[in-house]
Amino acid sequence: MSATVLYIEDNSDNLTLVKRAMEAAGYQFLGAEDGLSGLKIAEEMIPDLILLDINLPDIDGYEVARRLRSSSKPGLIYVPIVAITANAMRGDAEKALAAGCDVYMPKPINIRELWARVAALLQSPQTS
Ligand code: MN
Repeated sequence: MSATVLYIEDNSDNLTLVKRAMEAAGYQFLGAEDGLSGLKIAEEMIPDLILLDINLPDIDGYEVARRLRSSSKPGLIYVPIVAITANAMRGDAEKALAAGCDVYMPKPINIRELWARVAALLQSPQTS
């Protein structure tokens, strides 16, 4: 069975772009347009990897990552999280990593780099 990737992102253009890229690479794709619905889908579906925008309309991506890492669902405590954000300000990468994200990628999204990151993270041994 192919891996499932959840992307939490309020920008529909990015959501569409990444959906196509993930499906082209053979992954199952799930999308959510805000933090709370992203958390709900994550708890229901336990994706193999999560792509996470930081600027979301409700709770921000840092809070989403912290809630995933403290989830009662064991599959979400160690799920790889890739933070993707346009915030170029110093400290954002550190904040994302401190909140529990594994990797930080700046926007605009480089699809080849995203494919490489996702593939590398999905190769890591999973406990679930
Ligand atoms: Mn956003």
